[in-house]
Amino acid sequence: MTGCSSSESSQGSESAVSSEVSQTQTTTVENEPEKVTSVSIGHKDPEDYGKVIALTFDDGPNTSTTGEVLDLFERYGVRGTFFLIGDNINEQSAENVKRAYQMGCEIANHSKTHSYMNKMTPEEIKAEIDFTSDKIEEITGVRPTFFRPPYIAVNQTMFDTIDMPFINGYGCTDYDAKVDAQARYEKTMAQAKDGAIILFHDAQGNFQTVQALEMIIPDLLEQGYELVTVSELFYAKGIEIRPDTDIIYSYPEQTTMY
Ligand SMILES: [Zn+2]
Repeated sequence: MTGCSSSESSQGSESAVSSEVSQTQTTTVENEPEKVTSVSIGHKDPEDYGKVIALTFDDGPNTSTTGEVLDLFERYGVRGTFFLIGDNINEQSAENVKRAYQMGCEIANHSKTHSYMNKMTPEEIKAEIDFTSDKIEEITGVRPTFFRPPYIAVNQTMFDTIDMPFINGYGCTDYDAKVDAQARYEKTMAQAKDGAIILFHDAQGNFQTVQALEMIIPDLLEQGYELVTVSELFYAKGIEIRPDTDIIYSYPEQTTMY
């Protein structure tokens, strides 16, 4: 599986959204929004949180990088969120999904095949989502709450078809092998702020992100950040998780699409 395109980590500057989207954004939904149950929520009140950041990882699971990220999480006692590609889930890689979930990490959906879903029919989109959500539920017993579109490519058909909130994030171009660990570290620290969702890739062989995390995690902790799951980030910020918004979130308070 190759890494994501350059659009995946950008903050929507090169969006694949069609111009129709903005016109339909204000249409009212037919049904009352269904409340999504969150996983891995802490036992404290939202007002008891300080600065929070959600570290998120795309394109796993696998038996190498995913485990190395979890080793670091264990060392520092932190958690994160893994957006899985359904086709990467097999008997071996599922062990790291189980391990992550047992450590309090959140498991989320990153499609089945990692294709451009904005070119798909509603039926094809639904099949991509259901395959991966079913696999995740088989492993963890819990259906995922969040979805991250491959390449952050979205259109209105996807928003209408996928009954999960869409997650973006602040990336450090860590799908590009030419961007070394130091550059990934520096870009991440420059973008770090209270409430941010940070986007990494735990794709097979992406050791430079593991090296960057060896610097990023202790530095963020040193700066007073609490590293939480995406569900917990919304909880800490007092923002309801709604599956029906046409938003692709890089932080919970976001009200515009990007
Ligand atoms: Zn991806």
